[in-house]
Amino acid sequence: MTDLFDLEHIWHPYTSMTNPLPTFKVKKAYGAVIELDDGRQLIDGMSSWWCAIHGYNHPDLNQAVTDQLQNMSHIMFGGFTHDPAIELGKLLLKITPPSLDKIFYADSGSVAVEVALKMAVQYWAAQGNTEKTNFVTPRSGYHGDTWNAMSVCDPVTGMHQIFGSSLPNRIFVPAPQVGFDQAWDPADIAELAQTLEQHHHSIAGLIIEPIVQGAGGMRFYHPEYLRQAKLLCEKYQVLLIFDEIATGFGRTGKLFAWEHAQVEPDIMCIGKGLTGGYMTLSATLTSKHVAETISKGEAGVFMHGPTFMANPLACAVALRSTQLLMSQDWQSTIQRIGNQLQQHLVPLAQLNYVQDVRVLGAIGVVELKFNVDMKTLQQEFVKRGIWIRPFGKLVYVMPPYVISETQLNTLLTELVDVVCHMQEEAA
Ligand code: PMP
Repeated sequence: MTDLFDLEHIWHPYTSMTNPLPTFKVKKAYGAVIELDDGRQLIDGMSSWWCAIHGYNHPDLNQAVTDQLQNMSHIMFGGFTHDPAIELGKLLLKITPPSLDKIFYADSGSVAVEVALKMAVQYWAAQGNTEKTNFVTPRSGYHGDTWNAMSVCDPVTGMHQIFGSSLPNRIFVPAPQVGFDQAWDPADIAELAQTLEQHHHSIAGLIIEPIVQGAGGMRFYHPEYLRQAKLLCEKYQVLLIFDEIATGFGRTGKLFAWEHAQVEPDIMCIGKGLTGGYMTLSATLTSKHVAETISKGEAGVFMHGPTFMANPLACAVALRSTQLLMSQDWQSTIQRIGNQLQQHLVPLAQLNYVQDVRVLGAIGVVELKFNVDMKTLQQEFVKRGIWIRPFGKLVYVMPPYVISETQLNTLLTELVDVVCHMQEEAA
């Protein structure tokens, strides 16, 4: 199944080149189905790392790309602008927090985070404050794999050991402990309050994934944490940065996760589902105030400009994907998926080797008490015709919204059966 050239020469994510995990060759994908080279069909539970919200090979999105190709696939954004960027911008401002008013288009989630961090530092520097250059962030976070994004990822699971002192030293506070549905406990915010009181002179911003900490552990926390964090940021003059790259575009049951808390950030990053998973595009949005402050500073400009900034193909498909989402009753779809996830997964909580089962929006998580053997598990899932990629102790699903009830039933029935047969592994 594994392609020999691929095995010899092509690096895959987080993989050894001498002892790589197996890869499966894909011929095509459509709807919620991924078809392998040998004809096997897999029901997709991952949305290609959470971005293919409308599924694969969607006629409307294909059309948006084809139409844009007739005009231009790319044009530099320095000195030029174009309708796809403008129309997408208009729509984004309608659906993101009202106080956000300026949009910086970037190439990937990680770059959007780099841009957000740079904006925060430039914001303070523009006011003559060159001390506020560091960042505070909760543990168990994930913000991307580029240098500064990596520096604000969880220090234990986030590669800090490998890169050591080459990473900037960030200030970490404990991950929020109170779950999304639990009773709020003010102790959850105490260490953030203390840390900000002590270190605010050196802190430019607090960066956090609102409500759902994704790749750092798939943890769902209480909206009050964000409300308290916002108050603290205002008190101690620290910018609040929301990384909505994984939570955006309906995934948590709200269009964006900030809505669960009704807390508006100063800077917000979006990506992943922005293009419906068609190609890479992200955006960093900020308020008029932050943008004007940066622009009035000594530099007078914001210092970032990727080659593929606001790529017209990506903007065109992002516009169509977002219009498509907004034109449907996506709330009911997410609810239907969430209900199915609850029904199938919650009973697994009774197994003595299952630590926790949680569902929010269209995210279903089974947390085990041991690390899974990804290689074996992945092969077992494929054998059963489903695509789920577990990591650490987590077996989780984030299916494309177009998945049918029958497809999701099959996916979850197989998943549950595999987890139920893990007994020997757990022993
Ligand atoms: N932030 C969050 C919350 C993410 O989940 C991810 C990707 N998993 C990123 C940033 C990085 O995005 P990208 O992989 O597009 O660089």
